[in-house]
Amino acid sequence: MTEPLRRFFVPPGSLRARNVTLGADLAHRLGRVLRLKRGDRVLLSEGGGREYEVQLTGVSSYALTGVVLGEREALPEPEATLVLYQSLIRANRFDLVLEKGTEIGVSRFVPVISARSLVQGDGEPAAARGERWRRIVIEAAEQSGRGRPPRVESPLPFEEAVQQARGEKLMPYEGERGRSLGAYVRRLSRRPDIVSLFVGPEGGFEDAEVELARESGAEIVSLGPRILRSETAGIVASALVLDALGELDA
Ligand code: SAM
Repeated sequence: MTEPLRRFFVPPGSLRARNVTLGADLAHRLGRVLRLKRGDRVLLSEGGGREYEVQLTGVSSYALTGVVLGEREALPEPEATLVLYQSLIRANRFDLVLEKGTEIGVSRFVPVISARSLVQGDGEPAAARGERWRRIVIEAAEQSGRGRPPRVESPLPFEEAVQQARGEKLMPYEGERGRSLGAYVRRLSRRPDIVSLFVGPEGGFEDAEVELARESGAEIVSLGPRILRSETAGIVASALVLDALGELDA
């Protein structure tokens, strides 16, 4: 069996001609890190829903050249837009949510500063952190075959996040006993185009935050009788929403 081709996102405009030249970043990743060489084939995408099979014609440390052999539609993105408002937690755990959420099908991540958030204070400047988050979702989207990487917004205070959230708003809360997330979404009379999902930090949401979410029209839902860590809750809740909407069907 032939191995599937590896996929990479390239900057918009890179694939306009049959002969392509790509810059030092990709040359480093493909040539130095992945040891790809002249003659190898890869799939390249500008993130616009199409992907291109490219044969490498030259790999050096500062540039990569190739020739486009064919073009096809990339895997479609989920029809429903799932926006995960994930409260900030310890950096490595937040990174895990970005990676796994991307694989599952989250369309947009909004990091939320809620009352009990562990604001990531390990000295990493905001710009570097944003760049790292972006790299994580790009690599996860490449690996999982998504047509475009999800967006990662700048962190927002909880109140602003609740105000800007659109569509069907859901807040998993460990104090909720009656309403299960998956069952609730499956029973909606109209399939939502957008779902905004709020997940609390390690210490949970404060009562006032739950109240504010409720007042803004969010449904408070349960993820079952066991208390999940915040990163587990973000990943599990995303999968439950997408499954209930049929986005994980074969
Ligand atoms: N501090 C809380 C406690 O010990 O009771 C637990 C908070 S939990 C670790 C972090 C977040 O995950 C919560 O704010 C909630 O959004 C979500 N979560 C975890 N388990 C849940 C469950 N069984 N049902 C609904 N939401 C849950």
